[in-house]
Amino acid sequence: PEPPATTAVPQAGRPGLILLKRIGQIDPYSLDDYRANGGYEALRQAFTLGPAGVIREVTDAGLVGRGGAAFPTGRKWQATAAQPDRPHYLVCNADESEPGTFKDRVLMEGDPYSLIEAMTIAGYATGAHRGYLYLRGEYPRALDRLSHAIAQARARGLLGDDVLGQGYAFDIEIRRGAGAYICGEETALFNSIEGYRGEPRSKPPFPVEKGLFGKPTAANNVETLVNVLPVLTMGAQAYAAIGTPKSTGPKLFCVSGGVARPGIYELPFGATLGELLQLAGVHDDLRAILLGGAAGGFVRPDETGIPLTFEGTREAGTTLGSGVVMAFGASVPLPRLLLRIAEFFRDESCGQCVPCRVGTVRQEEALHRIAQRTGAAAADDIALLREVGRAMRDASICGLGQTAWNAVESAIDRLGAYA
Ligand code: NAD
Ligand code: SF4
Repeated sequence: PEPPATTAVPQAGRPGLILLKRIGQIDPYSLDDYRANGGYEALRQAFTLGPAGVIREVTDAGLVGRGGAAFPTGRKWQATAAQPDRPHYLVCNADESEPGTFKDRVLMEGDPYSLIEAMTIAGYATGAHRGYLYLRGEYPRALDRLSHAIAQARARGLLGDDVLGQGYAFDIEIRRGAGAYICGEETALFNSIEGYRGEPRSKPPFPVEKGLFGKPTAANNVETLVNVLPVLTMGAQAYAAIGTPKSTGPKLFCVSGGVARPGIYELPFGATLGELLQLAGVHDDLRAILLGGAAGGFVRPDETGIPLTFEGTREAGTTLGSGVVMAFGASVPLPRLLLRIAEFFRDESCGQCVPCRVGTVRQEEALHRIAQRTGAAAADDIALLREVGRAMRDASICGLGQTAWNAVESAIDRLGAYA
């Protein structure tokens, strides 16, 4: 087997890591290696606690979703477990496609058994016997390692009809995406698994009530699930002591762009943006930082005191999203960058609803025109962008349309783009 990719993890091997502790330290193809390094302790603990006990721990730990929306995981699991309708499903959203996001890839490639173990715990807690792992199609190495891990776990009684001899049946099927960003939206993802077009459904009803195949479904991001392992092995109280009271635990950040050491960094919530950029070795000519990816927003170099927490970024009028931090130097042409982002949303819109289908096209057209105009002429198009942006945010069905104007708006208002 190929050696594990550690270049994307500049902290690899450092003591004190929680989520990244095994990355680059174990052979991702070896179940024995995983078990010798703490693997499957959390599942044993889960069987001791029982499903309700697991949900209580996850709730008390304050764990919230790491895909970008920060919804409380315990609440999601409790709501799924309580549904009388059967069967229940567990879905792991591994369709990581937000530009600049590659944390889940690193976890799946470097520590695949941790996700298999975490999915088994989530299935046990929510009453599911079948888990679907929806994997981004462009992640062939993760596919290879996860497929191997699932087969090994099955062969060793860690998946199947009687997991660890505890009388609980659970198995996992991998489904691959086909390159559509929108299939990372949970309900579009369900449609994709069911064989339909990858178009989002209106919510409510939320997946906890009517999800995959119309049945109660807990859908969680890879990093969220992997956090359940330390919640159970450390205990909720110790886990909740990491970070801040409202953003608990460790967080993975994806740092790219104008830094000396791009890659995945693990920090407790509450570190500042500046501290993270220092770790990654930010270049001197920093002009702007994109927080939260294309769906997030730009901040200025004088705003690096922003605490990296969900509440701190919200108070600063921006978002943490899935933990993207892209640094741009003065040589990066901002109008070209904004056009690239607009092009991305226009291309990835599923076209189901008018505000997004038409709005993303109008946004890109206006940015094209602005790039060639100045002063008062550009002001008309900036006013148009604001109007179109408001319509997309207020009236789009899903997060894609609702956030397609975020980056452009923040570039105009915070960075003074086109001023
Ligand atoms: P959302 O706020 O609508 O929902 C978040 C989660 O909470 C969902 O699972 C939803 O089903 C659940 N939920 C919300 N309200 C609920 C309720 N009342 N009862 C039960 N469950 C409830 O957000 P979303 O549209 O699922 O996700 C948007 C986020 O996705 C953005 O923050 C963006 O940053 C992120 N995103 C991430 C990637 C990536 O690659 N990681 C890509 C694109 C977008
Ligand atoms: Fe499709 Fe865009 Fe509407 Fe979402 S907002 S459903 S991506 S058209």
